[in-house]
Amino acid sequence: MDRNESAPAIVIQSEKRKDYDRILTLLSPVWGIRRVIVYGARKSQKAVKASLYTEATFVVYTNPERNNHTLVDLTTITDHSEIMTSLESSFSASLMSELALLEKGEEKKELYELFTSFLDILNEENWKRVLIQYIIRYLVLVGIWSDLEYCPVCSRAYKEKDILGFSSSLAVPCCPNCDSMSSELILPPNARAYLRDSLRTEKEKAMGFIISENMAQRLLRYLVRTLNYSIPVPLKCLKSGLLNSLQ
Ligand SMILES: [Zn+2]
Repeated sequence: MDRNESAPAIVIQSEKRKDYDRILTLLSPVWGIRRVIVYGARKSQKAVKASLYTEATFVVYTNPERNNHTLVDLTTITDHSEIMTSLESSFSASLMSELALLEKGEEKKELYELFTSFLDILNEENWKRVLIQYIIRYLVLVGIWSDLEYCPVCSRAYKEKDILGFSSSLAVPCCPNCDSMSSELILPPNARAYLRDSLRTEKEKAMGFIISENMAQRLLRYLVRTLNYSIPVPLKCLKSGLLNSLQ
């Protein structure tokens, strides 16, 4: 039996392993999240290498005795090397990766498409708007975001001027009456309209919606704060406080 398999994938994490090896975490529309060992990656010039955010067709060997995967070969589609040249882009990509890593594999095709399409435009577009669009679409994909038209707690339709509160138990925005956070995490009408309209349209069009830099900043902080309630682990890339220093 041929134990080599090939599929498109992107490297979303790269870690040292022992003295010379690396472990790559791949996101693939076929495999979902798959960890792959690259023997000798840090020593041998000849070893097959793939840097962070390389998108490629990967050939992977599955060892049934050890129950692991090793990298055999790859054909690069794009290496996304521009990502690491900018602090904003590399921060954004690491936040996107951490969220992608939490996915359990059910939405692997959609997640791969979401991740790679936003990574592709990260250096050309406003990084805050890219992150906003990625985060809301990610939350919808994993089933923890509401449509921003009806309150998910009491089911009533929002009024145009409602300032939404937040339900900490459901981890979603809700109507002012159902707010469980004493207005600590609010979503004003214009910001809600932007997010709602973004989700009604395809991502390419939504990237064209213009908002002020100030609103992008506030919305991104809002969404990052909501992530504390909706995902099971704290995001490592937020610990540095970098988000607050990036303007
Ligand atoms: Zn309500």
